[in-house]
Amino acid sequence: MTSLTDNQTAAAVLAAVPCYPVPPTGASPAIDALRAARSGHGLALGNDGLMLILRRPWLALDCAIAPPFPAYLPYGSIGRPKAELLCGRIPRYLLDAILAHLRSALPNEAAAFVIWDEADGQFSVEYPEVDCATPSRLVYRTPAVPPGRHVICDIHSHGTAPAFFSATDDADDAHATKISLVFGRLNDPAGPDRASRLCAGGMFLPMPRSPFSGDGHAD
Ligand SMILES: [Zn+2]
Repeated sequence: MTSLTDNQTAAAVLAAVPCYPVPPTGASPAIDALRAARSGHGLALGNDGLMLILRRPWLALDCAIAPPFPAYLPYGSIGRPKAELLCGRIPRYLLDAILAHLRSALPNEAAAFVIWDEADGQFSVEYPEVDCATPSRLVYRTPAVPPGRHVICDIHSHGTAPAFFSATDDADDAHATKISLVFGRLNDPAGPDRASRLCAGGMFLPMPRSPFSGDGHAD
């Protein structure tokens, strides 16, 4: 078969993020390997769209990133989308501890990270080093975690202001694979305001449900 490229750097990029057409039968060892990988991502091109297949030890994401093509393609289907937390849901008591921490920092903004250890399946919370905190601005650093531990959630507050993703948040989240959460109106007796999204593949995807167990909230 003729190779796709004679350029070594280009070949390395294509090997790292492969794109496979789905055979008409639907079955493909190469696409199965992409789905079974512990970490990595690639694309499956079908007669009904283009699927990003992204894996992390804690996340299995199959996300259609193009609408069905009007052109006829003699390929199989890309299959159904999915977004599965392989680490399971985060215990509710950690959310309560994080909210208490965010409230204790009022009127300033504050932040927290949920870390997951793939060896023992345990979650923990880390409060980052904060370089600067005011009621409307927060500068903090993502913790460096050893191999086998993963930053699952990046959480920050907007103090008493509404929860939303600002342009700064968008820039911070652009290259990460993580769940991003913002809590606002932390002084509201009716409960805080929140915004959440899954950051993956350079996209911001809606979270169909809360990553915390026993937490009915979804947005
Ligand atoms: Zn923000």
